[in-house]
Amino acid sequence: MKSMHAVVLEQPGRLCPLDLADAAPPRPGEALVRIRRVGICGTDLRAFKGIQPYFSYPRILGHELSGVIEQVEPDNPFGLRPGDRCAIEPYLHCGDCAACRRGRTNCCERLQVLGVHADGGMREFLPVPLAKLHKSAQLSFDQLALVEMLSIGAHAARRASLQPDDRALILGAGPIGLATLVFARLAGLDPLVMDVDPARLDFCRQALAARTLRIDSPPAAGSPPAGLREACGGELPTIVFDCTGNPQSMRGAFDDVAHGGRLVFVGLTLESISFQDPLFHAREISLLASRNATAEDFRQVLLALESGRLRPELWITHRATHRAVAEEFPRWIAGGPNFRKALVEW
Ligand SMILES: [Zn+2]
Ligand SMILES: [Zn+2]
Repeated sequence: MKSMHAVVLEQPGRLCPLDLADAAPPRPGEALVRIRRVGICGTDLRAFKGIQPYFSYPRILGHELSGVIEQVEPDNPFGLRPGDRCAIEPYLHCGDCAACRRGRTNCCERLQVLGVHADGGMREFLPVPLAKLHKSAQLSFDQLALVEMLSIGAHAARRASLQPDDRALILGAGPIGLATLVFARLAGLDPLVMDVDPARLDFCRQALAARTLRIDSPPAAGSPPAGLREACGGELPTIVFDCTGNPQSMRGAFDDVAHGGRLVFVGLTLESISFQDPLFHAREISLLASRNATAEDFRQVLLALESGRLRPELWITHRATHRAVAEEFPRWIAGGPNFRKALVEW
């Protein structure tokens, strides 16, 4: 039996080639997918650096995945066939915990995320449950590998229950901030994007024609940053998305929310976040977490991409073949703010 090429993160700082036994035929309810693109994001870079929460080694990375179906049982209820191009939803949920029973599969009590809690897609073939395959005849493998990242933004926008008269602020102009921007716009809003990094904000204006506000550092809690009210028509935003995962930004974000407004933590931190209860109560702020995404979010992203209204391919800053990925990873980390999205090709 032949073997297949994979790449494993043995320990922080050490990506190694690995020969895995050739993939077995898929089990009932699964398809065997030939992986074609693996998107790399901050999660992978933090795992490489050894600072990703709840991460264990060795681990095959890869949670932003596209591929083509190699083998699937005929007449399956999902209408999937060999040759179908798919985005892979990497969130394997249990189906019977309290969250899953209520459709909240993205925050399943026993969630296994491919490439994080379970071995992911940095390999030639991956067995995937049929319900986690989202096919598109139109989209490229590059586009399909960006669906997971975009679905994080789609889910954040869904969590916020956006209304046409909302004024939205997005903290953080990284890929998740951009993804949230895209879906807040599809909900009819024109969010302001705030960041400390001028290059990221330049990209935001040029590629997405977004309104931006640069600040010198994440503001300490106490008052909203200078220029925020002016940029929001004289009033504070009714919806604030924190896409930084920076605890100082997350603490300061409470000051930015209008009376009766919502604050959504999309980025996450290991630290505790404290806030002034009088301010929280006076404004009756709704505080929400947004975690991962659901199948519904994936479908929304596929439709938006197929409509041609999004061009997330422009966000790709780096590329490598799977044979070169171990060499490239340290360079991507050194890229700092110039690293937005890398794709590994298989
Ligand atoms: Zn990611
Ligand atoms: Zn569950």
